[in-house]
This record gives sequence, structure tokens and C-alpha cells, in this order.
Amino acid sequence: MISEEVKQKRISLFFAKLDNLLELTARQLHERFEFQKTAFAKQFPLLMHSLWNGCEKLGPNDTIESVINQGTLGIGFIGLAECLVALIGKHHGESPKAQELGLRIVTYMRDRINDFCERYQHNYTVLATPAEGLSGRFTRGDQKKFGRLPGITDREYYTNSNHVPVYYKCSARHKAEIEAPYHILTRGGHIFYVEIDGDATHNPEAVMNVVDMMDALDIGYGSVNHTRVRCMDCGYETADSIEECPHCHSTNLDRLQRITGYLVGTTDRWNRAKLAELNDRVIHNTEYLQFTE
Ligand SMILES: [Zn+2]
Repeated sequence: MISEEVKQKRISLFFAKLDNLLELTARQLHERFEFQKTAFAKQFPLLMHSLWNGCEKLGPNDTIESVINQGTLGIGFIGLAECLVALIGKHHGESPKAQELGLRIVTYMRDRINDFCERYQHNYTVLATPAEGLSGRFTRGDQKKFGRLPGITDREYYTNSNHVPVYYKCSARHKAEIEAPYHILTRGGHIFYVEIDGDATHNPEAVMNVVDMMDALDIGYGSVNHTRVRCMDCGYETADSIEECPHCHSTNLDRLQRITGYLVGTTDRWNRAKLAELNDRVIHNTEYLQFTE
């Protein structure tokens, strides 16, 4: 057990570090903008022809400064779950205290990022990052530095943004109630998903219930994941995870799954960290959703 005093010290140290990193990131994005704005319109024949508001007023030798400030500069984060375990011993899916702290952290980021909008006059925004490549790289770096700490660095990946860990067993509703309040704080982008139980093609009600729940909880963007296996030889389809086709005994099977928003048949091209995440996923029970009349 970590004493309350140590926890509080740890949390204030964390906020100080977070603050420094936010400052650094905002400045870096500003400096990049200062460089980007010196480019000429003629360098971007497609983008500066009709895509950006006001670009029609630019001559080929004008800089793009007057139009590119409409873009957004995202400051993202991954691994809120592991961060909370490191700070207070539990993640937000398993402890209301952790959820309270998680919301405090991301609200703090949102507030600081709003300050940066005023200071630098750019559209900074908080991004709930899926981190397709970083997820493994950050974790490997931290393992080298800190070793393999249970619930923090003992897997090959960090959890996507503010998500409840994929391996944590809970209902779809619990996952949604925990993750939903982060959506309004992360306007640069976010996703909520559930791994649906059973065969969704024969249970459209379950999918409808999940969609109603997302609506009721103000979830900005969501998806319902379910695995679909198809035999490439005879066309047999199932939602069960099978190694061999029960009809023709072929092992030539196509598995349709979703990784960070992409539907994939083959997982050959994904990095080790994201594959480890895929293998850790648990199904979320949708039986007790109460959002329909
Ligand atoms: Zn078959």
C-alpha cells in the first residue's frame, strides 16, 4: 500500500511534469508553424488551389501564412490507464477515485491547451491518440528505464488514450460510462468502441442498444467491433473464432477485425505492440443495456 501522503506528492509532481511537457509541445508546434508559414502557395498546387479558405486570393509567390492558421494543432496522449495505476495503484475502469483523477488530468490538459490558443493564436486541441506506432515504442523505452511494472509497463503496448484497458473485463455499459466524459474534453478526436458479444449479424438489437447508449452518454464517435471469420474456400461465415472450417476443413480463413479504426482482414502488417493488444481484448457484455424503451 502506498500512503496517502506519498500519493499526493506523486500527483503534484506529475502535474508539474505534465505542465512542462504541455508548454514544450505547444511551443514546438508554434515553432513548426512559424517555419511552415514561410512556404509559398506555388509549393502546394492542389491544397492552395481550392482546399483552404481564402487560398484563392493567394498568388503563386505569396506565402501561405494568411490561410494556414485555420488548421488545428493537436496535442495528444496515450496510456491514461497505466498513468493512473502508476499514480494511485488502480486504473479508471476499476476505481471511481482513479476516474476522478483521470478526468482531472485531461481537464487540466484541456484548460492549458485553451490558454495556448490565446497565447499563440492557433487552434490547439486535445487529441485522444490511438498511437499506432508510438504505443509500442514508448512502452519499450519505459521498460528499459523502469523495468516491467505490473499494470504499467508489463505489456507490449500502452492503452489507447483514455480507454479502459482492452484486457479489463467489464460490461459495455460500464466501459461507456467511464470513457464518455472524456469525449467533450478531447475535441481533436476520440473513439469509443465495444467488442460485442455473440454474432452481431443475428442480433441487430444488440447493435442498436449500443448505439442508443452512445447517444444517451454523449459519446462523440463510436464503433461496435465484432469478429467475422470467413472460409476462403467454401464461403462459410461465423462469429466464432475457429482454426478450421467445420464444412470443408480448410484452414484458409479470413478474419475481419478492427485495429485503431481500421477494418483488417490480415494482421500481417501490424506491429507487434498492436497485435499484442488485439490478442488481449475481452468481449463486453451487452445483455443489460437499458437505453431502449
Ligand atoms: Zn470451408
